[in-house]
Amino acid sequence: MTVGIVGGGITGLALAHNLDEAGIDHVILEADDEPGGVIRSGRVDGYLLEWGPQRLRRTGPVDELIADLGLEDEVIEAGDTKLFVYANGALRRAPFSIEEFGTTDLLSWRGKLDVLEEPQTDPVDPEETAAEMFTRKFGEEAYENLIGPLFGGTYGSLPHRMPVKHSLSGVMRMEETYGDLLTPVLKRAMADGSSAPAMTFEEGVQRLPEALYDAHEENVRLETPVTEIRKKGDGDGRFVLETDDGSFDVDDVVVTTPAAVSADLLSNLSDTAESLRRLNYNPLAFVHLRADSDRDGFGYQVRHDEGLDTLGVSWNASMFGRTGKSGSKGVYTVFLGGMKNPELLEESDETLGEIAATEFAEVMGSDAEVLSVHKLHRGFPAYDESWDALDEFETPDGVHLATNYTARMGVPSRIREAKALAGQLAK
Ligand SMILES: Cc1cc2nc3c(=O)[nH]c(=O)nc-3n(C[C@H](O)[C@H](O)[C@H](O)COP(=O)(O)OP(=O)(O)OC[C@H]3O[C@@H](n4cnc5c(N)ncnc54)[C@H](O)[C@@H]3O)c2cc1C
Repeated sequence: MTVGIVGGGITGLALAHNLDEAGIDHVILEADDEPGGVIRSGRVDGYLLEWGPQRLRRTGPVDELIADLGLEDEVIEAGDTKLFVYANGALRRAPFSIEEFGTTDLLSWRGKLDVLEEPQTDPVDPEETAAEMFTRKFGEEAYENLIGPLFGGTYGSLPHRMPVKHSLSGVMRMEETYGDLLTPVLKRAMADGSSAPAMTFEEGVQRLPEALYDAHEENVRLETPVTEIRKKGDGDGRFVLETDDGSFDVDDVVVTTPAAVSADLLSNLSDTAESLRRLNYNPLAFVHLRADSDRDGFGYQVRHDEGLDTLGVSWNASMFGRTGKSGSKGVYTVFLGGMKNPELLEESDETLGEIAATEFAEVMGSDAEVLSVHKLHRGFPAYDESWDALDEFETPDGVHLATNYTARMGVPSRIREAKALAGQLAK
């Protein structure tokens, strides 16, 4: 059996790693000249920058990969989650423990009581939006000042455009397990907010896909975009992956590409493939700044009505206790655009740099110089109403979608899905 994997991002590479362990032949065809997909780390003027994920959570499957690849010595773990929300003109710490919930100035006593009354509210309705659900269950203040900025910020999205059924399946499962949502939140808070720690590598997040590539290089073809997927003519159920460098015969196909590319590639195999093209992605611009500010924490998200274009800012060096220029001391990543301000991506790099630096000075009280400006016209999957289109999609036999638009987006979830799929294929 041979598995053809389209795309050498973290999903494709982690899948290859697990297929290798299971002794299943496979080939990865990747369009780009380097592995990692949206995970991109690199140096500008000596500073380490991230153009994709700034960090990942060190969950069990991530830990296994680190051990298999011998990367332990390169791991940098962050300490306790210390995130802020910019609300009412100031940075205020978001609570992740009982003590922080008691002292946070993001919520009034009335707002805190509303949160504690969540178990008395009606269950989550899959048809309501994330904003409606959070407001109804935790109160308006908690939604506006805390949950909206943190949840919306993670996806560069607007929670009032995200139906629960498309964006919060994990929350629905949590409610089924515990009977309400407050109990698991409290449980976590009582453990001082501890969950899998945030982590990166000395040379950035891309070290992980690079190490996977190094370990499985013989099965990966870079700069080899798949141009067509079709059934083999002789009716033996196999597939042909066409590329400009020749064709590859495989038994099963795993597609990990963004939705619009998948729509093109699957058009020969399914009349419903076109529906994938309707999925919206949130455009995103990020500006890397260098500033002499010594704030301690992971960064901040901005409350929706603060009148800023900035969606949020990562404090890259502080998050991982990095020091010195090579450790990216003084580097901050400003996120702009998203579902809130997609038109910002029409602006020049110079204008985006100015907006980021000006608003950074307003919030952080510190001047900043622009190191780099980067635009992703199709950044995060939006998980909005356009996800209804997935109801129409029928996966052709022998084809598997392993993607962040059909499952969860975070790197640990991508790795977990790759492992599960390898197990399924091995059976
Ligand atoms: C800006 C940004 C910030 C993020 N921040 C975080 C974070 O902090 N923490 C976190 O856990 N997650 C984060 N994520 C989410 C996470 O990084 C992604 O969901 C994940 O990396 C996607 O990996 P993937 O392999 O599924 O897809 P991709 O990375 O999109 O890989 C798909 C691959 O397919 C290739 N391809 C495309 N067309 C073809 C073709 N025709 N033939 C062959 N190959 C093709 C592409 O070149 C690409 O390499 C972030 C994502 C983005 C975009």
